[in-house]
Amino acid sequence: MKGNAMPIAFVITGANELTAVEANSPEVPVSGHARVEITFAGICSSDIDAYRKGYPYAPTLSGHEWTGAVVAIGDNVKDLAVGDRVARTCQPACGDCRMCHAGHQGLCDFFSLGTLPTAPNHGAYATHIQVPAGSLIKLPDNVTDQQGAMVEPAAVAFHAVRRSRVRAGDTVLLIGAGIIGLFAMQLARQSGAVNVIVIEPDERRRGVALALGATAAFAPEDEELLPTLLGLSGGRGADIAYECAGLGSSLMTVVKFLRPGGRLVMISAPTAPVEVIPAMWTSKELDIQTSRAHARDEFDVVVDLFAKGVLRTTGVITEIVALSQLPQVFEDIAAFANAHRVLVDPRK
Ligand SMILES: [Zn+2]
Ligand SMILES: [Zn+2]
Repeated sequence: MKGNAMPIAFVITGANELTAVEANSPEVPVSGHARVEITFAGICSSDIDAYRKGYPYAPTLSGHEWTGAVVAIGDNVKDLAVGDRVARTCQPACGDCRMCHAGHQGLCDFFSLGTLPTAPNHGAYATHIQVPAGSLIKLPDNVTDQQGAMVEPAAVAFHAVRRSRVRAGDTVLLIGAGIIGLFAMQLARQSGAVNVIVIEPDERRRGVALALGATAAFAPEDEELLPTLLGLSGGRGADIAYECAGLGSSLMTVVKFLRPGGRLVMISAPTAPVEVIPAMWTSKELDIQTSRAHARDEFDVVVDLFAKGVLRTTGVITEIVALSQLPQVFEDIAAFANAHRVLVDPRK
């Protein structure tokens, strides 16, 4: 924010409450840390969920999809220099807990989506942020700053699609063409899915999904959906359904679209209780699978997929706003008055 002497950051402090706080970003970072000037920060639906409900949200997660440039490094920082363009990752696994010892680094007992244990008092809805150098990844020249802010949601999609064991020739259904859905759709396609059918209420997003490679895209109430799915899959139904819309109700509504022995993959993490009838799953012997965020090494692959043009981002971001506009933008998205995918540019 130009002309602002005090570095500020926005954090969620209660239901429908976004508060400007003083950013904790010393000009000289502490040992092992870097100070990053934020270029772009994405607004995640989990931010909006926390804002609507006012649940205690780790301040460092309030703005966790970001990219920027290193402006200072502390002592004991290797492989990073001032001027490097970077994106945030998650914390590397600790390497020393029972899950790490068992070879399950992705399920490390000290897994953190934020930048604990040395987190600042805010996330990247800020001009600057100080983070551990180990939670940054350098961006090659052919990955844009905007793409850098999409690395984190792309890693969420990557982790889930890999876990889903999608196979060549599969027909998959994708519920919700937000940013994670659009990446999951492309990754399923790249993994060999021959048909990828998208369910998405927003017409613009359906158009983006089709442009990025979806076979077909339907509004949820469209009566052509089921016959098209059955026609494309030889009458079987979908092999895999990816839930990316944040709808717990998908646990039930998607059953009719899945083939016997099919798999529902929850990429989103709805927080509201839902009623389920497990017999509807067992009668089809469905697999219900969940996916938790990402692992540190997956960010390297995702950046490479951007660099090689395997993951495309055309049309994914629709609006760039200034930091000062954030309270209004949050209010609009929370009220469903804004279906755009927004990046915040604190330099504006
Ligand atoms: Zn997120
Ligand atoms: Zn560990």
